[in-house]
Amino acid sequence: MDYYLQLTSALEQSGRNYDVDVIKKAYDFANERHAGQLRRSGEPYILHPVAVAELLIGLGLDNACVCAALLHDVVEDTRTTIGEVRTLFGEETAELVDGVTKLTRLPTSSVEEEQAENLRKMLLAMSKDIRVMIIKLCDRLHNMRTLEYLPDQKQRDKARETMEIYAPIAHRLGMSSFKEELEDLALKYLDPHAYDEILQTLADLDEKNGEFTREITAELKEQLALSGIDRAEIQSRKKSVYGIYRKLFIQGRSMEEIYDIYAIRILVDTVAECYNALGVVHDLYTPIPKRFKDYISTPKPNGYQSLHTVVIGTKGIPFEVQIRTREMDHSAEYGIAAHWKYKDNLKGKQKEETFAWLRQLIENQQDSEAEDFIKNIKVDLFAEDVYVFTPKGDVITLPQGATPIDFAYAIHSGVGNSMVGAKVNGRIVNIDYQLNSGEVVDIITSKTAGGPKRDWMKICKTGTARNKIKQWYKKERREENVQHGRQELERELRVNLLWDDYLQDDVRAELLKRMELSS
Ligand code: MN
Repeated sequence: MDYYLQLTSALEQSGRNYDVDVIKKAYDFANERHAGQLRRSGEPYILHPVAVAELLIGLGLDNACVCAALLHDVVEDTRTTIGEVRTLFGEETAELVDGVTKLTRLPTSSVEEEQAENLRKMLLAMSKDIRVMIIKLCDRLHNMRTLEYLPDQKQRDKARETMEIYAPIAHRLGMSSFKEELEDLALKYLDPHAYDEILQTLADLDEKNGEFTREITAELKEQLALSGIDRAEIQSRKKSVYGIYRKLFIQGRSMEEIYDIYAIRILVDTVAECYNALGVVHDLYTPIPKRFKDYISTPKPNGYQSLHTVVIGTKGIPFEVQIRTREMDHSAEYGIAAHWKYKDNLKGKQKEETFAWLRQLIENQQDSEAEDFIKNIKVDLFAEDVYVFTPKGDVITLPQGATPIDFAYAIHSGVGNSMVGAKVNGRIVNIDYQLNSGEVVDIITSKTAGGPKRDWMKICKTGTARNKIKQWYKKERREENVQHGRQELERELRVNLLWDDYLQDDVRAELLKRMELSS
């Protein structure tokens, strides 16, 4: 197999202007350094860096990324130093290789504290240059695709790490096709029995429902055209294996209760056409109440935009319909990586927003202990979100299960610390009320509030709220301690009959001076 040929044909197919000379130089260098090394499959090692480079080319990433992909294991696995890479390929590529090497070197550990530390480093590396994380995700995807060659225990370790860390990161970066493939591959090794069972069930369903999606597609295409939306593209897809697994085993539903196993995706040109197409869909099929979601007017925090609805088709088979513009679709599939493919680079405000969640995670964890951090980050990465409104109409995004406490601290720690109650849609609710999307939340505050209650830390869902409450208690305890110290001092002085002397300013000043204290 000529791996170089494979690489150049990927470069050609991309239709982009890559610097083939420098990429060839990187390929030759990596090929020479990895010479003699084999993958577990018995194939030459170079096939792995080439496969990672191909994934990045597919995502439309730049020259430096493709070179870094080819070189991503030379520092880790050969005698090469990062200095050599820098001299030969320049600062930018060297920085990327160095970042990926550092991520690779993070030891995987079952000890929570270490795991938290690794996560923190990973996130910091990411916030410095997001391309490092995209290269790492491609590296992990190729390793997961070829996981069958590793020993059993290694398979499970890698699969767990993929499920707990890499898939959520891909999700947060909006790279849904990566996320789904990583999850499905991980599940295959973590719960092989369930994985096979779901695959079999899906195959059975296909046989039973046969022409179903083809009929729907044809019908929709015709009706959309009649409504003047003649450039609509209709795709049909099935829910991912892990997506079904979650509903079956984590949410405890039965196969019949999963309404979105089949999804029809309608791609159009404009936002107006999205809403028109929705009208056509709801005319044609019966919508299931409360299953309509408008992520176009209220995008998900990772930037995802689409209309979702669930309808009942012919033969009574429910299916989900996702409607979005072609541009939204590119972003939904490739997330942050789409910015390289369809624009030259991330710019200005968009970049700011994309990284806001990341900055917040890192800021939040500065004050919390290791176990807290890993718990917080897991909640923050995994949670499905709810969107609630301030009385002024600003949207606040919170994880599912969030309470008025989370809402209050999301606005400002001052609001949380002086909260005495909350109203949802104008009605007083308990402090542990679980907020739902679309609700208007009004926090009632009082200047005489005694500060947060300790049990709020158990009720709240977000790391932000928990940390802010903890900070308040830290500060509060300082004042308690000062108070306590004063009482102790007074008691000692009284016992020794020195209290009256101590109360005289000049005696106290002399004392402070002699003891070198400021107050
Ligand atoms: Mn690798």
